[in-house]
Amino acid sequence: MSKRKPTRKPNNRAKPIATEGSPDRLLSAARSILKSLTAYRAAANAYGQEPIALSPILEGLTTLDEWLLSEIQLFEQAQLLIDTEAPVSPTNDRGLEWAVPQTPEAIIRYSELANPSDDDYLTRLRLSMTNRAERTATRDDALTARCDQATATGAQCKNRPVYWPNRGYLGSCSTHLGNEETQQLTKIYDQAIAATGCPGCGRNAGTKCSQDARYLRPVNGQWPSVKTFRGRQVHTARIDLTPEP
Ligand SMILES: [Zn+2]
Ligand SMILES: [Zn+2]
Repeated sequence: MSKRKPTRKPNNRAKPIATEGSPDRLLSAARSILKSLTAYRAAANAYGQEPIALSPILEGLTTLDEWLLSEIQLFEQAQLLIDTEAPVSPTNDRGLEWAVPQTPEAIIRYSELANPSDDDYLTRLRLSMTNRAERTATRDDALTARCDQATATGAQCKNRPVYWPNRGYLGSCSTHLGNEETQQLTKIYDQAIAATGCPGCGRNAGTKCSQDARYLRPVNGQWPSVKTFRGRQVHTARIDLTPEP
């Protein structure tokens, strides 16, 4: 967990109304917990471990206030960047575009990477979400697509075409795929694993996708789907981050 200290403090911000579901209501609830944790730490420090020794969980609670304070400060720092419409980079250190709501730490990192001409966080987020929603709609249309080749009997092949990043199911099925396209797709799948972290299962670049439920997380509000090619299994979101060679 990060212990990073914020470089700026949001003390010049006009106090917004803490409506249900607002970041301010969340923060005010977090501050209430912080207050209790601080009081708990003082009580635990004063307690002499007699006659009942503290269990690991009760002991562990004494360190949570520092951790929570640091998380609150990061959240406030990210909120300040949003309120002041500070520019944020549309890509991460490795040049990959982000497209879903980001954690405070990521927002701060993107603002550090930003050029002055970059969009602010909310503008960028709305744009990314719209683009992705449009791409998903295109993809859904493509689910009914069929292979563009004919079978040995001359009839139209009924298999689903292979999946291409961001373009959906197009062209030929894996049986009818030409050599060049096979090589291209192999490269895309290998590249996705080698060069890109997975938004669906959180595996880092260089590590294969995991289907372990503990690692899976929603991408754009949906559980991540998997695309398979020649024995390689990669989450769709990870494939879509991979540029075609
Ligand atoms: Zn086919
Ligand atoms: Zn994955």
